[in-house]
Amino acid sequence: MVLEYAVGIAFLLVFLWYFSIPRTARAIIAAAHEALAERICPACGYRFGVIEAEDDGCTICPECSAAWRMKAFVDKETSNEC
Ligand SMILES: [Zn+2]
Repeated sequence: MVLEYAVGIAFLLVFLWYFSIPRTARAIIAAAHEALAERICPACGYRFGVIEAEDDGCTICPECSAAWRMKAFVDKETSNEC
C-alpha cells in the first residue's frame, strides 16, 4: 500500500516536471521575443528607441548593459505589416 502510494507520487512529480518546466521556458523565451520586437529590453524593460546595433549586430541596453540581437525580431515585426 505504501509502495503504491510512493510510486504514484513519483509518477506525479515526473509528470509535473516534464510538462511544467519546458512550458515555462517556452513562455519566457516567447515573452523575450515579443519585447525585442517592440524594442524593449527583456531584462530590464528599457525602451531602446532609436539606439543602433553595434558592429557585431548586438544592441546594448544602456540601462542594464545586456546585449540583444534585436534586428531579427524587429524585421520580423515590420515584415508582418507589409
Ligand atoms: Zn536592459
